[in-house]
Amino acid sequence: MTPSRVLIIDGDQAVGSYIAAIAAKSGFAAEAVTSAEEFRQRIATLRPSHVVLDLRLVATQGDELLRELAANHQAVRLMVMTDNDGSVGPASRLVEFSNGPKIAATLRKPLSAADLSAVFEDTADAVGAIDEAALQQAVDNRQFHLVFQPKIDLTHGHTVGFEALLRWHHPRRGIILPGEFLPLAETLAVMDELTTIVIDRALDQLRRWSDQGLETTLAVNVSAVNLKSFRFADRVYQSCLKAGIAPDRLIIELTETAAMADPVRAMDIMTRLRLKGFRLSIDDFGTGYSSLVQLQRLPFSELKIDRALIIDCDRSRQSRIIVKAIIDLARNLGLSTIAEGIETAETLNVVRELGCQSAQGYHFARPLDAVQAETWLKTHSRAAAADSCTWISSNSQSLAGKT
Ligand code: C2E
Ligand code: MG
Ligand code: MG
Repeated sequence: MTPSRVLIIDGDQAVGSYIAAIAAKSGFAAEAVTSAEEFRQRIATLRPSHVVLDLRLVATQGDELLRELAANHQAVRLMVMTDNDGSVGPASRLVEFSNGPKIAATLRKPLSAADLSAVFEDTADAVGAIDEAALQQAVDNRQFHLVFQPKIDLTHGHTVGFEALLRWHHPRRGIILPGEFLPLAETLAVMDELTTIVIDRALDQLRRWSDQGLETTLAVNVSAVNLKSFRFADRVYQSCLKAGIAPDRLIIELTETAAMADPVRAMDIMTRLRLKGFRLSIDDFGTGYSSLVQLQRLPFSELKIDRALIIDCDRSRQSRIIVKAIIDLARNLGLSTIAEGIETAETLNVVRELGCQSAQGYHFARPLDAVQAETWLKTHSRAAAADSCTWISSNSQSLAGKT
């Protein structure tokens, strides 16, 4: 197993070197930098498993540091350093809301050698497992499974399908969410195998439900790296044939950023998928930078509005305006719309009144295991929901006037 690597950023070089020396004693390959610019360069080559971040630097140079972490290094274990009184104020909130890695430990200055060693040893043990060898072993041992989050039709309230989400059942750490291992997996050859596992499991699940007379659809997430091979569409199609599942029951979700990374290649592979009968959904829409011209050329059938826009659209007029514009754009391009991250009845009412066709989120259900999803399907099918729909109530308070 490769040693854990830590990158330390502190404006004071002496502090950085001190922490690096202690990390090295705990078995880390450690480096310290003093500026955001140096950090950006070193993180790309060192690919650290851990980052130690001085929150005072976040306050002054934070944006760049946090954007870099959120965009490319979701899997790092982030340790933040605060001043003696622990008051980190706005800087720690910036970290929390940056969509970047979660804070694994908080270190208070002045830093004692004993405390630092303890933190490094703890976190090294917890994270040492996530590296290329561990991922390959997990794939070989099939330590992955899917959970299923229902997608709800906002006119009638029934379940239109599920999104399949990947979980790693780690023998020592329990369930690990994709945010912790996918960013690394996507840089490795193992990502193709992982996606094959996801698609095979999804088809197997559809087969089992179908055998019981439960017809539904599953959406699976695909990474940009999976689109490198022109044979991708053919491979997924062959898997469908083998499982006896019609391709239109599998929806391939691709993030806006992934689709735009190499639009020419994406266009080619997505067209092949569409020709074979698969549906394509553009995931996390609204946070990337797609040009409208590219968007209308790509053969998507569904547009999924990012949670970041949905989360406050009952309170923020600006979010409502953006969501409304996206829904209108989708409609004009002939795409169906789905809102992700619905957590409250208020946001549900807003997106429904803005004309969104379907939604998913904790307000309806968290991701469910296969048995729970099956029970859900039996009770929330189109027929069952017609009698007992709880979330599409006719007396829901209108928020449309607020847009
Ligand atoms: P995503 O495709 O946008 O999936 C939605 C994520 O939001 C899921 O997180 C889901 O559990 C979470 N979520 C759903 N409803 C709510 C809500 O109301 N509030 C909040 N706060 N969160 C909600 P999860 O399962 O941790 O997945 C994170 C991301 O990892 C996914 O985002 C997707 O991009 C990626 N991912 C998941 N499974 C796979 C997979 O099999 N293959 C690939 N390539 N990527 C995957
Ligand atoms: Mg998705
Ligand atoms: Mg999404």
